[in-house]
Amino acid sequence: MTAQIDTASTATKVWTRESVQVEKRDAWTAMKRGFRGRCPRCGEGKLFRAFLKVANNCSECGLDFTPHRADDLPAYLVIVIVGHIVVPLALMIETNYSPPVALQLAIYLPVTLLSSLLLLQPVKGAVVGFQWALRMHGFDENNPEP
Ligand SMILES: [Zn+2]
Repeated sequence: MTAQIDTASTATKVWTRESVQVEKRDAWTAMKRGFRGRCPRCGEGKLFRAFLKVANNCSECGLDFTPHRADDLPAYLVIVIVGHIVVPLALMIETNYSPPVALQLAIYLPVTLLSSLLLLQPVKGAVVGFQWALRMHGFDENNPEP
């Protein structure tokens, strides 16, 4: 009696330049589509199923969104963007007009909060689109690593 050893795959896949079919992915187009909350590949299907929850796959073209690894980058980028708008504005207003501090806080705090909340989803969509366009993580269908 012989013991049979099962292996995960029977066919050996050889990775050559020719075996890789290249699908053109434009980073800017993908980021723009992601920014609008659309699928980076077809631009039609919804990218998000909730405020910051990325859907599992595109409803139109079926692209799998689960390989994205946006993590903290969208929040970091939103802080950078909003900070570079609100802080120079606050400094300019203070130097030129110096209005009461309470009035300034009553404007800057809600403006910062609102613009951050409004930017989070589009920026996250752009990050996911960027990762897809650059075939990062699991977005590369030809990646031999699982
Ligand atoms: Zn799609």
